Amino acid sequence: MKVNCLAVNCHQCRRSDRRTVVPCTKCKEKFYRIKCIREWYPELEEEEVSELCPYCHGKCNCNLCLHSSGMLKGYLHLQLKLNDHFVTMMSEFTATTAQLQ
Ligand SMILES: [Zn+2]
Ligand SMILES: [Zn+2]
Ligand SMILES: [Zn+2]
Repeated sequence: MKVNCLAVNCHQCRRSDRRTVVPCTKCKEKFYRIKCIREWYPELEEEEVSELCPYCHGKCNCNLCLHSSGMLKGYLHLQLKLNDHFVTMMSEFTATTAQLQ
């Protein structure tokens, strides 16, 4: 196991703690400290995190994930939704005005 030779940093807080860190068996590259799991993901058990970390769950709320792709994706999704709504509204509007004329 090469992983044990590497510095083990918690993905959530970036602190290294070899003893209380839970490795993810899915991505094999993310680790979460038990303390952080309790604090940030109280709905997840340590065993669950070791099978599928919050990052693999797609709900990681660390600074990095919140400020990178996750946020951007969410924002784009919102924009898309708003555009959709706008298009529907406009087509309804034009349909009603067409009927009125
Ligand atoms: Zn941590
Ligand atoms: Zn993972
Ligand atoms: Zn993260």
